[in-house]
Amino acid sequence: MKPLTASELTELVSGLNRLARNLWWSWDQEAQEVFHDLSPRGWQNLYHNAVAILREVSPYELRVRLQDPGFADRVRSVLSRFDAYIKAPKTWGTENAPNLVTNPVAYFSAEFAFHETLPIAAGGLGALAGDHAKSASDLGIGFVGVSLFYREGYFQQAISQENWQTEYYTQLNPTNLPLEPVLDARGDQLVGSVRIAASTVRFHAWRVNIGRVPVYLLDTNRPENEPMFRDLTLRVYGGDSTTRVMQEIVLGVGGVRLLRMLGLQPSTFHMNEGHAAFLTLELIREKLAAGSPFDQAASLTKAECLFTTHTPVEAGHDRFTSDLLGYAGQGFLSDLRISHEELMNLGRVRAGEASETFCMTVLALRYSRAANGVSELHGAVSREMWMELYGAKTPEEVPIGHITNGIHLVGWMKGTVRRVWKRKFHQLYPAKSEIDWFADANNPEFWAKLADPSVTSDEEVWALRYRLRRELVEFTRRRLLLQGGTFSHGDFITFDAFLNPDALTIGFARRFATYKRAPLIFDQFEAVVKLVKDSGHPIQFVFAGKAHPRDDSGKRFIQKVIHLSKYSELKGHLVFIENYDIHVARQMVSGCDVWLNNPRRPLEASGTSGMKTTAHGCLNMSIMDGWWREGYNGNNGFSIGPDSHPADVDEQDRVDSENLYNVLTQEVIPSFYNRDADGVPRQWIGKIREAWRTLAAEYSTWRMVQEYSNKYYSRR
Ligand SMILES: *Cc1c(COP(=O)(O)O)cnc(C)c1O
Repeated sequence: MKPLTASELTELVSGLNRLARNLWWSWDQEAQEVFHDLSPRGWQNLYHNAVAILREVSPYELRVRLQDPGFADRVRSVLSRFDAYIKAPKTWGTENAPNLVTNPVAYFSAEFAFHETLPIAAGGLGALAGDHAKSASDLGIGFVGVSLFYREGYFQQAISQENWQTEYYTQLNPTNLPLEPVLDARGDQLVGSVRIAASTVRFHAWRVNIGRVPVYLLDTNRPENEPMFRDLTLRVYGGDSTTRVMQEIVLGVGGVRLLRMLGLQPSTFHMNEGHAAFLTLELIREKLAAGSPFDQAASLTKAECLFTTHTPVEAGHDRFTSDLLGYAGQGFLSDLRISHEELMNLGRVRAGEASETFCMTVLALRYSRAANGVSELHGAVSREMWMELYGAKTPEEVPIGHITNGIHLVGWMKGTVRRVWKRKFHQLYPAKSEIDWFADANNPEFWAKLADPSVTSDEEVWALRYRLRRELVEFTRRRLLLQGGTFSHGDFITFDAFLNPDALTIGFARRFATYKRAPLIFDQFEAVVKLVKDSGHPIQFVFAGKAHPRDDSGKRFIQKVIHLSKYSELKGHLVFIENYDIHVARQMVSGCDVWLNNPRRPLEASGTSGMKTTAHGCLNMSIMDGWWREGYNGNNGFSIGPDSHPADVDEQDRVDSENLYNVLTQEVIPSFYNRDADGVPRQWIGKIREAWRTLAAEYSTWRMVQEYSNKYYSRR
């Protein structure tokens, strides 16, 4: 083999640098493996950070490593796939949404979850936004994202000796992250400003590359800003409602201004939840400044905007008092040439009702040409919730539709599984190209083929399930060791007493909002203890999740679960993994056999974590709420109770906990442990196949973003 020439080396090195700064690598298996193999230990210590890996490996080492012809070939193949992906001239979007090529969708979200090294999301809303952006990229539709750069991100969770959640923050360093400063034509940092209270607050922005899609993160940490404004974008939903309203002015107003500075004329402004609703006021201001009267400016704005509501839970709808909005939002009065009372009325259901606070959801609904909930039931609940705003006599008259959420399927696959499915993809479709995978992995036909026993045998499914469960057990034990607090000294000796790689493993991981009722299953404590100790048919639990820093009831739920995991008969059969994030989520949705979801119906608008399990052969066991009401077909998982709920909340808790126990003992455990002479649970595997056929492609953002595009983005 001839050594690489200097120019070939330079090309590969610069290619790797480009690749590390585009999070596309995180959903391309071979790209990820290239960074991993450069420094396997660094990969773990740096929490899978490709940019940091390229800083840790010296330029000299990198050139030496690339002289290994096998490695250089792998890098070349990844880079050529990356270029083919980025430059593909024909995509779903160019064919089906050509208007978005020149006038993209601008998607505003207070949080985005893309990767564990950029923790700028609090939970499901951010995960959904991140997955929406990734699928917009895969589909090749014109799309830009807008959010804030929280340099301390969302909190990291630690658990005290009293099993109480405490929060700490770490600083994100942009030079170690896939972030690029947004520059003007002269190469200087682009700087914009918004009016907050009586001050002018300046911001700059960072660009994250999500495949073909740019996402811009606004950052007020500038030396010329007053100190309180420098820290405005410090933390995700940080501080009190004063911080909140000010962050939302930066997001909504600043976001539109940034897009204009970049020369963008979006065809649709999509508000992912109400946090960004001030963007409507900025769009009205622009039109007033161009000479339109208010009513015309308002109706033109309405034609440009789209709103997705995400929760029926009251606390999920931002409300600001008249005093607060009058103080923080005083700039709106002169910008819009309206009185304070008129401004307040834009966020009220009843104009002139002094007792009503300013609601961001109301503002968003008022100035959107279309609005939607995130599942069929949530659409119906939202229509009922907002009848008065529309002066409707029946919910059917309320113009709120629904598009059921999804997940970015390929991105959520654990490497173990992604390798297997990708290999089968190439076997099934030998003529397809490397980048067809990103599309066809979302095709129901592909999943129907995978589910066929002639393509994936029962033995293969079961071996994969064992491997994934073992990986979770090993991951959990390692985390427990790092968490420390869970053990007394003697426990280290019997470390393998924590979790059993053969046992039916039930996972529960989500925000510890109280309506999600994390400890519900332990209401039947004595009965559950019997189940975990049944040596022939043991079950075990893995829990994780964060409570909002100011949610003491949520923290008490965490305390209860951890207390049981340490001091009750459940010890060793129940573990709590600290610091839930998307990396922990991926380990859990892949390794568990059953994914437990027991919210108070109908408060789980959609839920998405359960969708992440399907590709891994984990089955859902859920209340008939959100997406599961639509997904469950009787044989692709388990339903807890019927498609209805008692009106009384205490009654609901009691009935649901009984139903949960019943489905567990009557359906789940018998089916899992029903083994044939070869030790294979054929019936259980049949359910996994049915889940692949009916859920995997349907609950993907590939399907979801197409629906948004067909129904809303391409229509004016
Ligand atoms: C998917 C995900 C969520 C959302 O889970 P739900 O089931 O909707 O509660 C929250 N947090 C993280 C880290 C996730 O990956």
